[in-house]
Amino acid sequence: MARKTVIAGNWKMNKTAAQASAYAAEFLTALGQAPLTEVVLCAPFTALPSLQAGLAGSDVRCGAQNVFWASAGAYTGEISAEMLVDAGCTYVIIGHSERREILGESDELVARKLKAALSAGLIPILCVGENLAQRETGQAVAVVNAQMRANLAPLDAVEIQRLVVAYEPIWAIGTGKTASVADAQEMCVAIRACLAEIVPAAAAEHIPILYGGSVKTENIAAFMRQQDIDGALVGGASLDPADFAALVRRSGGEAN
Ligand code: PEP
Repeated sequence: MARKTVIAGNWKMNKTAAQASAYAAEFLTALGQAPLTEVVLCAPFTALPSLQAGLAGSDVRCGAQNVFWASAGAYTGEISAEMLVDAGCTYVIIGHSERREILGESDELVARKLKAALSAGLIPILCVGENLAQRETGQAVAVVNAQMRANLAPLDAVEIQRLVVAYEPIWAIGTGKTASVADAQEMCVAIRACLAEIVPAAAAEHIPILYGGSVKTENIAAFMRQQDIDGALVGGASLDPADFAALVRRSGGEAN
C-alpha cells in the first residue's frame, strides 16, 4: 500500500471568518479536479465554521492549529479536541515550533495533546525540528529523535500509526530558507527509523512524514520527489488561495 500524501496549509494567526469563506470558494475553483493528495487547511479557531461550510462537499479537510489536553472543564481560553471535531476538523497541528518557542510548550505538554486529539478521533500533525545552532553542531537527528520519543511516550502503537509527522527545521520556517532536499530526505529517513523502533517497521512505513519550512510552488516538486517525504506543511505560501492551489497541483506532478 502506498503512503498517503498530505499537503497541509497553516494559516497561523491570519484570516477572519469572512476571509476564510471567500478563500474556500476561490481555492476550490482554482484547485479544479480533486487532487490525489489529501489537502488540509489549518485555520484559526474563529474561522473554522465558515471554512468548514465553504469546503462542504469537497475532499479538502479542515484542521486546527492547537488543542488542549482535557476534554472540558475549568481551563479558561482553551479549546478541546471534541470542540474541534464539533467545528468540523479532521486534523490538528500539535507541537508547532512557534508554540514550543513563543509559548514554552514542553514535550510533555505536546504528548498530552497528542493523546487527547487521538482519543477524540482527530489526526494530529506532529511538528518536530531542530534550531540552527543544533543543525550547525551536528545534533539535528539526535534532537529530533529525542522530541519524537518524548512526544510519543504515552501513545500505543495503534495511536502512533494514525499520526502525520512534519519535519520542520526551525531555521527554515518563515525565513525563506529551506533545508536542502537531501537534508530533508535524510531527516525523514531518520524519523521513520525512529518510528520503526517504536511501532512495527511495516507500520512505520505507512506513516506520512511531511517537510515544512518555506515550501513554495517553485520548490514543492523537488521535495515530493524524495522517497521519504510524503507531503508538506506550508505556512506563508498557503495564504493566497490561487497560489496554494497551484502548489497542491504541482505537488501531484502537474507542471503548473
Ligand atoms: C509553518 O508554519 O509550519 C511553516 C512551515 O511556515 P512557512 O511555510 O511560512 O515557512
